[in-house]
Amino acid sequence: VDFLNRHDRSALMARVKQKNTGPEILIRKSLHRLGYRYRLHSKTLPGRPDLVFPKRRKVIFVHGCFWHSHCKCKLATVPKTNTAYWVPKLAGNAKRDIQKTRQLRKQGWGVITVWQCQLNNIVKVITRLERFLR
Ligand SMILES: [Zn+2]
Repeated sequence: VDFLNRHDRSALMARVKQKNTGPEILIRKSLHRLGYRYRLHSKTLPGRPDLVFPKRRKVIFVHGCFWHSHCKCKLATVPKTNTAYWVPKLAGNAKRDIQKTRQLRKQGWGVITVWQCQLNNIVKVITRLERFLR
């Protein structure tokens, strides 16, 4: 599936590498360009999902690997200083993510998580999201 022309794709790829552009914005823009419409950071839903598709009853989380302790990911390192603070803090974040996902599914929402490290291949991510949203 090739839904972005070469120019768009390289623009997207360039943007992934820029520091101040959140991965979430990249996903938002890609999906918007493909015609998907969504709400952002719904405060009424567990975990405040990043993107919400009310009619499809689906939500997308975009997680930073560090903050959300992406399992077996090299970006999910524990800082070597202040370890006693970080270990429970990061573990707590991960635990909360699991709880929120469970709550959402119980309410009938489809839930998918995109990880920061997966954005090296934005085409693959968007393809997966399109399949999820369909
Ligand atoms: Zn990761």
